[in-house]
Amino acid sequence: MEDRQQHTEEEIRERLNQSGLKATPQRVLVYEAMCALGHASADAVFQHLGAGQGKMTLATVYNVLESMTQAGLLIRRPSFSSKMYFDVHTDAHCHIYQQDTSEISDFCDETLQRNVEARIRAQLPAGLQLDRVEIQILCHSQSHEA
Ligand SMILES: [Zn+2]
Repeated sequence: MEDRQQHTEEEIRERLNQSGLKATPQRVLVYEAMCALGHASADAVFQHLGAGQGKMTLATVYNVLESMTQAGLLIRRPSFSSKMYFDVHTDAHCHIYQQDTSEISDFCDETLQRNVEARIRAQLPAGLQLDRVEIQILCHSQSHEA
């Protein structure tokens, strides 16, 4: 799941259209960036787009990410930093959050995810309905010092 996806512009347009979004040049650029990055904050997408053609403001990047989230193309992942990350993989999976680099990456263990969800569902207080379970594993790089 960690594979960085490369999509042709045509595929991206089609995916946007299927989600009910018009494939504007800005949306195509932002989705392309998200596919390359996998998980990214609005800031990171903004940085990734750099000073390229059709440069967008950070606010525009954020708005585009929001509209894609609402259309179901992206999902928000909270993190232990103050940043909200967007994820191109909208299915349920766990994440590793690296505290020293603020990097977020996939940790795929379907059985773990399923078991945790089932256990929580079975014990959920009355009157509550489970939306989803976000499992985030906090790590940092091991020091190479002896
Ligand atoms: Zn992910």
